[in-house]
Amino acid sequence: MTPASHRMIRFAQRMNNLGTETAFEVFARARALEALGRDMIHLEIGEPDFDTPQNIREAGEKALRDGYTHYGPSAGMPEARAAFAEYVQKTRGAAVAPDQVVITPGAKPIIFFTMLALLDAGDEVIYPNPGFPIYESMTDYIGAKRVPIMLNEASGFSFDLDHLEKLITQRTKLVILNSPHNPTGGVLSRETVQRLSELAAKHDFYVLSDEIYARIQYEGEPVSPYAFPGMAERTIVLDGHSKTYAMTGWRLGYGVMPKEMALKVAKLQTNSNSCTCSFTQIAGMEALRGPQASVDAMVKEFRTRRDLIVEGLNKVKGFRCHRPAGAFYVFPNITGTGMSSKEVENHLMEKAGVAVLAGTSFGSNGEGFIRLSYANSQANIRKALERITAAF
Ligand code: PLP
Repeated sequence: MTPASHRMIRFAQRMNNLGTETAFEVFARARALEALGRDMIHLEIGEPDFDTPQNIREAGEKALRDGYTHYGPSAGMPEARAAFAEYVQKTRGAAVAPDQVVITPGAKPIIFFTMLALLDAGDEVIYPNPGFPIYESMTDYIGAKRVPIMLNEASGFSFDLDHLEKLITQRTKLVILNSPHNPTGGVLSRETVQRLSELAAKHDFYVLSDEIYARIQYEGEPVSPYAFPGMAERTIVLDGHSKTYAMTGWRLGYGVMPKEMALKVAKLQTNSNSCTCSFTQIAGMEALRGPQASVDAMVKEFRTRRDLIVEGLNKVKGFRCHRPAGAFYVFPNITGTGMSSKEVENHLMEKAGVAVLAGTSFGSNGEGFIRLSYANSQANIRKALERITAAF
């Protein structure tokens, strides 16, 4: 008899369309080299290297002791939905009702649920390329049509709205924005978001605004399309606690959307996760309502590291690094090395002991770039810069 592991599994066709986030694969490869005794500096993973602030951890511990260990409503606990709505209303400057909020295990499901709720096969999705790989992967998985929009290095990785307008067709149903942006750290200007909002009304599409890095912006104010006239009815704001409060492992995120859509998204949640962990939601309320000094300190530290890494990378032969205005990533152009993005990724991992991601992990337009996360100590960033300089 053939052992089960040797039999071919007849997977569903749609599995061929599912992409992935290569950060997790590169991380595994770097860890495997470490297990063989190699020293590695991790600049590939997109998570703050800080601990979840004490007041939030204590709120989570107390919630556990108080018995928040049961199922809750699929859309989120009413008191948490109210707290999250209050926070989004305050930070975006536009009214948000608690029943517009759906709380999810991490912010990622909001991408999937938004697409499942809105898109039929053949509907078109305009999204940034390079961009967070899940946008493209999910678009493919549900049979919608990819319409990537190129980001321009020269304009701080923004996009050209005239070009975007040319990409709009009768089938355009969703445009994805991400500011501050992963992987480039670019931010969108008020003018860009305003014009995009006007296009949304004119051409009747929805906007998924991924604002997970909204609190990590060093220059200018974050701008949400949600706050522009008429946009509350066609915008889905994605946000969460992973980055702002260093809570990646707690899995806590949320979407703000029109009420009728929140009902549908909650139904998708009932069919998948059932609900988000109850004590995590209580901790998340403390995060939003409690002291914010730890966020300010984290952003200040990120800013110092950004300056350090940008300055260092601009001295590496063949590298050119734009100074990003947000998130905790840099996206240097490496075409001057004469190597491809993937070659630079491999070269740095194997020869220099520095784990980074090829720009192509974020779409085809990422060729010629690599992404480095500066969510690592200044000492490690300095050491990484020395190693990268020596490797080129
Ligand atoms: N959106 C962007 C642009 C991200 O970079 C990430 C995480 O890396 C997410 C969404 C998902 O965040 P979460 O860990 O809360 O699911």
